[in-house]
Amino acid sequence: MERRVIVEAKGLTKKYGDRLAVDKLQLEVYQGECFGILGPNGAGKSTLMKMLYGSSALSAGELFISGLNTKANPREVKARIGVLPQDEGLDLEFTVRDNLLLYSRYHGIDANVAVSRIEDLLKLMRLEDSSEQYVGVLSGGLKRRLGIARALLNYPDLLLMDEPTTGLDPQARLWIWNFLKKVKSEMGTIIITTHYMEEAEQICDRVAIMNRGQILAIGNPREMIKEKIGSNVVEIQLAKHELQYYLTRLSSQGFQYQVIRDQVNVYLANSAQVQSVLSLVGNLQVTTRPSSLSDVFLKVAGHDLRDEPS
Ligand code: ADP
Repeated sequence: MERRVIVEAKGLTKKYGDRLAVDKLQLEVYQGECFGILGPNGAGKSTLMKMLYGSSALSAGELFISGLNTKANPREVKARIGVLPQDEGLDLEFTVRDNLLLYSRYHGIDANVAVSRIEDLLKLMRLEDSSEQYVGVLSGGLKRRLGIARALLNYPDLLLMDEPTTGLDPQARLWIWNFLKKVKSEMGTIIITTHYMEEAEQICDRVAIMNRGQILAIGNPREMIKEKIGSNVVEIQLAKHELQYYLTRLSSQGFQYQVIRDQVNVYLANSAQVQSVLSLVGNLQVTTRPSSLSDVFLKVAGHDLRDEPS
């Protein structure tokens, strides 16, 4: 069955002066997907997101959401999307419930419909006990949950979440990711930006790895790991003068590897190969671990996600 395209970007470009934040991007996101946009700071994730939710004009290219050209139909597009921006933009002087009421009016939702939707969303986001509290006194985690409830008020076709867990304490982060894992299939299409690779690996059906405004790799996280890395990684700590000797040995045995400062990461198709690497490097200091999406990032972007792009 042909999958319905919800987002289609053709040559999508954003320039800030001379700086190319998003560079001729081609992208299709399908109905029902949870799609992750990954990348280090400055990769262009937020700029792409802002173009998707209509708060940043395109410098060039075209963008379609649910088949609608976003430039020609900004109001219709806004009515079909739900947005959790990085700064939630909530009204701190209002209560949780009043924030939702206010926003339902902005969307033109009938008052009676709004009241029952708000009850449902308060329940869904476990905000019932906080509904009469002022937003200004809420914890970061509760504010983020209210932000999500607000994004869902218009029952959007497409939910856009820009770094939904950034800045939260680990517990609040976990709550949101567990929530997304549980409900994502009922939410229609979701696009999330994040720099938490391990979380994206768990909840996203597909991810795009971005750097410098471009998509370097795209696909299902587990398939990408399998295809580009394999099942295991052996990390070898090496002194500079030992490097060439061991790289030659690894190459001669046909191993794929990457040098990261004073460390060599050897990528293994299966765990049976671990022993061969261990015997090849003798008593050097090594760590063996399962492969992850961070390894894919390192391989395609050439640097660690925790580093700033050079
Ligand atoms: P990310 O969300 O991946 O961290 P951004 O989309 O925020 O990346 O930024 C992409 C690039 O565009 C960066 O080089 C950033 O400095 C630049 N940029 C982002 N917003 C602006 C702005 N309002 N004015 C000028 N440059 C910007």
